[in-house]
Amino acid sequence: MKHQFSKISSVETIAAPMPCITQLIQDKIDEFERMGSEDAFCVGDMGDVIKKFNTWKELLPRVEPFYAVKCNSDNVVLKTLADLGAGFDCASKGEISQVMKLGVEASRIIYANPCKQKSFVKYAAKHQVEMMTFDNEAELIKVREIFPHAKLVLRILPIAQVKVQCQLGNKFGCHPNNVHKLLQRAKELGVDVMGISFHVGSGVGEAKAFAFAVKQAYDAWQIATELGFKMTLLDIGGGFPGQSNAPITFTEIAAVVNEALDTYFPHDDSVRIIAEPGRYMVASAFTLAVNIIAKRSITPDVPDVDGNTPQAASHMYYVNDGVYGSFNCIMYDHAHPEPRVISDSPDRFVSSIWGPTCDGLDCIVHECKLPELEVGQWMYFSDMGAYTIAAGSTFNGMPRPRCFYICSDDLWNQVHPEHRAPKRRCESLSADADYPLLMTGPDMLTLREAANSISCCND
Ligand code: PLP
Repeated sequence: MKHQFSKISSVETIAAPMPCITQLIQDKIDEFERMGSEDAFCVGDMGDVIKKFNTWKELLPRVEPFYAVKCNSDNVVLKTLADLGAGFDCASKGEISQVMKLGVEASRIIYANPCKQKSFVKYAAKHQVEMMTFDNEAELIKVREIFPHAKLVLRILPIAQVKVQCQLGNKFGCHPNNVHKLLQRAKELGVDVMGISFHVGSGVGEAKAFAFAVKQAYDAWQIATELGFKMTLLDIGGGFPGQSNAPITFTEIAAVVNEALDTYFPHDDSVRIIAEPGRYMVASAFTLAVNIIAKRSITPDVPDVDGNTPQAASHMYYVNDGVYGSFNCIMYDHAHPEPRVISDSPDRFVSSIWGPTCDGLDCIVHECKLPELEVGQWMYFSDMGAYTIAAGSTFNGMPRPRCFYICSDDLWNQVHPEHRAPKRRCESLSADADYPLLMTGPDMLTLREAANSISCCND
């Protein structure tokens, strides 16, 4: 049976995902139903990641992106970005090891966690990952002891009050009033400070945050130079939006960043400028499909647990991924995932959507309007690539969703000219679909291996 995806009245403002993704998910669902599978799954569009990277290069030509691995550490994402020439922002030994296993050299890694475990610093030293951030004296002492030749980057605290999805300044960053003292201490300790970094906050809502922070970085840079440090690196951190309905566009931010850089760090070959984008690269690339595993219909006039009596019929849908899994973004990233469903019905009912665990906190959407759905039907969520799968648990024994990857021929070939995409169609796709490449398998290590192992395609 062919289903049609419909918009939901309460979330009609969401931009439709690429038709290709919609069709692919529909085809995948049909395939799953034929196989008798109801497991949640996600589709990662590596073409979207490549396009984001290309746009970055075009709009921020002076800034090298060091992808923040924490945002989504999917190996296929990392390999795609590595092949594109990106650098990586790693927060731990595990992330450093993961990107190095993909062949990324130490010079393309910044260990951007100002508070590091000693053994992780040892690991960085062993693998010559020299660039690392700090924002306090104890960290300076620790690094000097373990890795005296580390190239240190002072993370400052941007003090401008701007709207952000997730604050980071409550935890990290040296206040401008303390910069001189901390750098003075670094001088006494004899460590090599060579850069300034900041993070304006994840999912920034106002471009001016970058203008203020670049000016602050300039001030700190002057202090460091006066103290005799040879400063060569400016790291403007993350915060760039990645989802289709972000309050501000990347283009707007890029214009402000470029102007600030040209003002405070005019073109100079001795200054390297990097950034640590996370959500920008991956948010829109992933779409998550979940199956309705259970349903409860609420009849009017029966009081709920709080004693409130609903006026109209409503439905509670239980799906097989939740806030302990990919939807942890609701808790940790203040996200508001918006459902799309498969239905031709014009009727809408008040509905709520719940995750699969036994916890009452496990609610994905408290209230929205949906057509009536039945157990076994599917819904899907776009923009699920950032801070989702990466922090998902298997609480209550619930599995993580399996991921399928796609990439259009032209973009794939741009990254891998030596390994052109096979001009074949995957048998799992409908006859009229034209997906040049479908890669499957959670264990896949490299895109090249993935391409070599596409065995499900018809000639
Ligand atoms: N860099 C650091 C040090 C971070 O802590 C984070 C996110 O927490 C990022 C980069 C990525 O931020 P975003 O996803 O907003 O680009």
